[in-house]
Amino acid sequence: MINMNNSTLDKLISTIAKLPGLGPRSARRIVLHLIKSPDALMLPLAEQLTQAAEEIKICEVCGNVDVVSPCNICNDEKRDDSIVCVVETVSDLWALERSNFFKGKYHVLGGTLSALGGRPPESLNFNSLSTRVAKGAIQEVIIATNATLEGQTTGHYIVDLLTPFEVKITRLAYGIPMGGELDYMDEGTLNLALKMRQDF
Ligand SMILES: [Zn+2]
Repeated sequence: MINMNNSTLDKLISTIAKLPGLGPRSARRIVLHLIKSPDALMLPLAEQLTQAAEEIKICEVCGNVDVVSPCNICNDEKRDDSIVCVVETVSDLWALERSNFFKGKYHVLGGTLSALGGRPPESLNFNSLSTRVAKGAIQEVIIATNATLEGQTTGHYIVDLLTPFEVKITRLAYGIPMGGELDYMDEGTLNLALKMRQDF
């Protein structure tokens, strides 16, 4: 029988409960499940978490996560350097990669501006974006922020930011519904949204 007053378990449960989409109840279920298979699940998970924490880097160019910086996408010479797709988060980048259509490069902002202010532009990767565009090799920037109020606010900020540069700015076509988040789109919708992208 597991003694739930055990502080090791309590600490583990409260840490897991901090993960997105989980609360104390699901954290308790996860911990009980792990305890049942220490060798098959718990120890490998602990090892993989340690390894990931040590090896994972944020790409100095685009903000993607990888074990190398610049990341494997930035380093990939088969991808088109002249098109950069700007996304809010790494999970949006992963969603576009799963759709397997886009063959340019990315720029991960790390979030959105809040429509009411409060989240300052300095907290996002705008400076590195204008630095990249200022180098002159990028011909098109696709704004692929989510179809939410914050995503659109952020999109307009990017348009202003890039006005001084000679670069074409497009945005995803919205077969994506208002309020839609890229991570939840099926691959066909994402492909179409990319293919039908419009001038911003
Ligand atoms: Zn990168």
